[in-house]
Amino acid sequence: MSKVIVKNCSDYENDRVKLAILEGLNPLGGLSNYIKEGSKVLLKINLIGPKKADRAATTHPEFVRAVGQLVKELGAEVYVGDSSGGAIAGMAPTKKSFTVAGIERIAEEEGFTLINFDEVGPVSKQSDENYTEELFITKAIEEMDVVINLPKMKTHAMGIYTGAVKNLFGAIPGLRKAKYHRDAPNPEVFGEVLADIHKSIHNMPLHIMDGIVSMQGEGPTAGKPYPAGKVLISEDPLALDRIAIEMMGIKPERVDILKASIKRGIGCWEPQEIEVIGDYEVLRNYELPKSYVSNVTKDNSGVKGVIDFFKVVPVVNTKKCVNCNSCVDSCPVSAIDRATKKIDYSICIDCLCCHELCMVEAVDLKSKNVMVNVVRSVANLFLK
Ligand code: SF4
Ligand code: SF4
Repeated sequence: MSKVIVKNCSDYENDRVKLAILEGLNPLGGLSNYIKEGSKVLLKINLIGPKKADRAATTHPEFVRAVGQLVKELGAEVYVGDSSGGAIAGMAPTKKSFTVAGIERIAEEEGFTLINFDEVGPVSKQSDENYTEELFITKAIEEMDVVINLPKMKTHAMGIYTGAVKNLFGAIPGLRKAKYHRDAPNPEVFGEVLADIHKSIHNMPLHIMDGIVSMQGEGPTAGKPYPAGKVLISEDPLALDRIAIEMMGIKPERVDILKASIKRGIGCWEPQEIEVIGDYEVLRNYELPKSYVSNVTKDNSGVKGVIDFFKVVPVVNTKKCVNCNSCVDSCPVSAIDRATKKIDYSICIDCLCCHELCMVEAVDLKSKNVMVNVVRSVANLFLK
């Protein structure tokens, strides 16, 4: 049985965020249950890319500040880390992301140490149980006494939802991430990589989700902010995700990236195994990604034509494109032409990394059928 605590929190005002977290931790015995004086505590944030805090793509800096202050009050050292996705000029943009997302500023103000996972080197986490042949995660996690996972509540164009389980993909440093996307080209198989990562980490007892302003629509970077006003807390990342998914109005069985984690028992999933405490509610009019409809239809065998009808593909909008080539360098199968930005759909694996990583939102998701957007809008209302 796992507990998931949901607390209302209307905005990022420091006292309010700290109070929501402190009250939310009470049913788990408080933060001191996990942290001892002098211990090294890493806050694993969502720093997907160089996005400003108000875009709701990254864990909000004021959320990180509040958690870090509470940890510091217990006499522990605070570290904040992640590895951003994609590549700009052949490098993961983590350093830039710390600055743009406002994390560098709060770290300076509060005396937290930033850890760029791309710079500290990886450690092998090989295991016979792993789906991946070679699993390397950042050394930073290994070197800490405690890791607290601080995911952001968001939709995801490929995986429908991204939260506590998916946030650990950032534990894979730098450009290695592209290899895992290439080797796991659909959400269900990609979920095996996430399960491998969770199985390999044994010092992460707590997950605190920033759902104060969450992301709806075409997440994880190109969606719109949604003022959900929630903080979710649990020792169990899978149970936390289940509750967040329900609150966003997504059918839990539609989230393929979590299937491996359910099968391999990284946490509780069934409603009777999860005790929900606090301010749970289904959020109204939460906009889901366009791919939600094709994901639903996929469940019925014999409807491939329907899936193809709804399927979205990435298309570069050359009017918005600033020619940074991040999508070109990040595409795991080199499907994007450097000069024209045309995508070779015969080799594209639908990972949507290009959509996720373009920092000026120049990669649109489009159907080849003009009627689809109308049908999808109507269908989304009924399929929630
Ligand atoms: S679409 Fe253009 S701006 Fe966006 S990542 Fe690709 S090259 Fe950069
Ligand atoms: S073109 Fe985009 S969606 Fe297709 S494989 Fe490359 S990064 Fe993934």
